[in-house]
Formats: sequence, structure tokens, C-alpha cells
Amino acid sequence: GYGEYLVKTSLEVIEKEDSVLNAFISVNKDAKPGIPIGIKDNINVKGLGTTCASKILKDYIAPYDATVVKKLKSMNFSIVGKTNLDEFAMGASTEYSAFGPTRNPHDKSRVAGGSSGGSAAAVASGEVVVALGSDTGGSIRQPAAFCGVVGFKPSYGLVSRYGLVAFASSLDQIGPITKNVEDSAIVMNIIAGKDEMDSTTVERNIDFTQFIGKKMPKKRFAIAKQSFGEGVDDGIKQRVDEFAKFVESLGHEVELVDIDEIKYSVATYYIIAPAEVSSNLSRFDGVKYGYRISAEGLREMYEKTRGYGFGEEVKRRILIGTFTLSSAYYDAYFEKAQKVRRKISKKLSEVFENYDFIVTPTSPITAFEVGSVSDPLVYYLMDIFTIPANLAGLPAISVPFGKSQNLPVGIQIMGPRFSDALVLGIADEIE
Ligand code: GLN
Repeated sequence: GYGEYLVKTSLEVIEKEDSVLNAFISVNKDAKPGIPIGIKDNINVKGLGTTCASKILKDYIAPYDATVVKKLKSMNFSIVGKTNLDEFAMGASTEYSAFGPTRNPHDKSRVAGGSSGGSAAAVASGEVVVALGSDTGGSIRQPAAFCGVVGFKPSYGLVSRYGLVAFASSLDQIGPITKNVEDSAIVMNIIAGKDEMDSTTVERNIDFTQFIGKKMPKKRFAIAKQSFGEGVDDGIKQRVDEFAKFVESLGHEVELVDIDEIKYSVATYYIIAPAEVSSNLSRFDGVKYGYRISAEGLREMYEKTRGYGFGEEVKRRILIGTFTLSSAYYDAYFEKAQKVRRKISKKLSEVFENYDFIVTPTSPITAFEVGSVSDPLVYYLMDIFTIPANLAGLPAISVPFGKSQNLPVGIQIMGPRFSDALVLGIADEIE
């Protein structure tokens, strides 16, 4: 049948493309007939590996399906492989993978973005029609922008994280990466919903496709002034400007709005996320998940296993998190960051009292050359526009909008919490 043909074709394209792209960590040669989908390798698919692109989980086989995977399987999706990522989803380029970087299908000397770089490259290259990613600070939207595809981070609480390896639980969401907005809406209808296995999920019966293909009523757009600030590529500033004019030509209202609080987002996130990392990753101790380096004593076993198993960025985050949570520094860092997080959320809510959507570039830059960045701070600063949506739990989409120096540019549209269907609808109209 057709599903057999689709999976066969998908596996053939992977066979042809992936030796260079490296979008997949593992390929499921036994995939059943269905709609071919790639799943980020921090989401469990029963019987396949879940490596999180880490040496510490290199031989781990998932004993159960994540809720999202179970739902997709029941709707005839077929998992053709597990996609590459930055180790434990910490990164913005997929260069921090223990399995080597993923390359951008538009220019193979460049990164695919991250951390869901494998998922974005797999969709952009036609290896699969859809892939799942996870987004803690931009990891669905930024690689989608770099690869010229659509990436959607749902409102916090709409999609179950049961079976997702936790990075920073107060920020993590699973979402789709697709060629077009409609496909993302269709996937959302399948994966969303309250789940007993994830107590942060909420009951909201949203039809994510309700505005797809329809003319939207007049909406108000706030273009964040910060889109034109320091550190944003000129070509990207130009696309934002054109985007604003285009939206206006569709009959919507557009205004430039100063959202100064955006400038605190990176500092806030890089306190909160590592704090949660230091706690979430303590479970990888050489006892519970297989991989172990034997040693004389328990403490030495932990040290050797974690010392060898984790890569440099993951260790950096664990150390930062352990430091900021330590009793002497808790008030100065973690508590302060929580306050600023609330301040940023409040500011965004205020903007949404007057506007339906907030627009920024997804990333201040386009895809860069593999190996060209070495300073961790340079990576952290790339997340400036994507982080606010995670801190505030908002839905946000990245849609391709032209190019800058021949590389794809993504525009981000953010909406109030649970306005996911409207965000998808407006993105579909613009696309
Ligand atoms: N680049 C960000 C980080 O390194 C975001 C990652 C993500 O969303 N998983 O933490």
C-alpha cells in the first residue's frame, strides 16, 4: 500500500543523504508501513535506542513509548529513525552531539542549528515529512529557521513530556517540525492532550487546524523593537521589516513595540535551565541506566562514569547549576532569576493586552560554518529571541521568510498562552 511506499522512499532518501547530513543517530530498517516520521533521540520509542546524543546513554534501549509516540503510532505514523541533537538537547547547533554534527541541507558546510538539528535537517532534506523536536529555549524553532522549515513550540502544558528525557522541566515542550504550517497543526491535533503520566499537562480541547486555510480577521501585531538591535544580522533586520509590511498588506495592524525585558532573557534562562539540569541529570549515575565504568568504590565509579559519559557542555551546565543552587548563592542567582522570569512573563502579558501577536526574528543570525564557534557565550546569545516563550510558557512558531546571503531566515510569531490555534492560523495565512 501507500504507507509501504512512503516508508520505503523515506529509507531510500536517508540511505542516500544521511552519510553527509548525519540527521539520524539510528535508522529503523524495520519501520512498519505508514507516514514516515523522525523522532528526536531524547524521546522514547520502544525497542529503539534513546541516546540523547550522549556517550552515557549510547547503549540504552527504550523500554516504553513516550505518550506522543504512542499517539502517533495509533494514527499510522511510522518511526523511520531517531534524530541527532546536541547532547541532552543542550546547544544551538547540534555540534555538541557525541555522534558528530548534523549538516544543513542548504549548505553542507554549515550547521543545521540545534538542539533539534537532526529533526530540522531530516525534514528540510525530504528524508521524512515530519519530525518531532523538543524546545527548552528554542530548540525546535531555531533549527527550523536555519533549515528553512516550520517549527512550532506549543504552550506549556499542551503536550505530554512522558517519555521525553527531562532537560529543564519547567521549560521543556515537545513539538513538530514540518515543511508547512498545516502539517504542524495536524500533528498537534494528534500529540496534544492531558496525560495522567505528565501532571503538568492541562485539559484543553483545542482544534489546532481550525484557522488553517481561512482568512484571518484583522489582528494586531507587535514587532519587537529589539528585532533591529545590536547583534542582529542586517539581512535578518530587512526580512523582519518586509514581514511587517507584508502583514500590513494582508489587512492587519502592525506597530513597533519596545520590549526591553527581552534583554534579560539569556541571563535568566542560563541560571534556571542549568539549575534544573543539575537535578535532572543526577539520575545518570552508572547504576540506573546501564552504562558504567567500574571502579573500586562507589564514588570513584560515579566520577569515572559521569566524567567519561558526559560531554563538556553538559558538564558545564551541571557545574553552573550546582553552583547557583548552593546555599551560599541561591538568593543571589536562582531566586533572582525566578523573579526576573516573572518580570519577563508579566511584560509579555502586558503587550498581549494590546496586541494579538509578538514578532521577532527566530534567531539573530543565520546558519554558521560547522566548527566556527567555540565560545559558549556566543552560543547562549543566539537564544535571545526564542527563550522568552519558554520562560512564559507561550506558543511560538518559526516560519521561513526569505533569505539572507542565500541562507534561510525564520520569523517567530508568539501568542498568549493557549492561543496556539491562532498562532498556527496566522502563520498559515502568512506562509
Ligand atoms: N540553545 C538552548 C540551550 O542550549 C536551547 C536548547 C533547547 O531548547 N533544548 O539550552
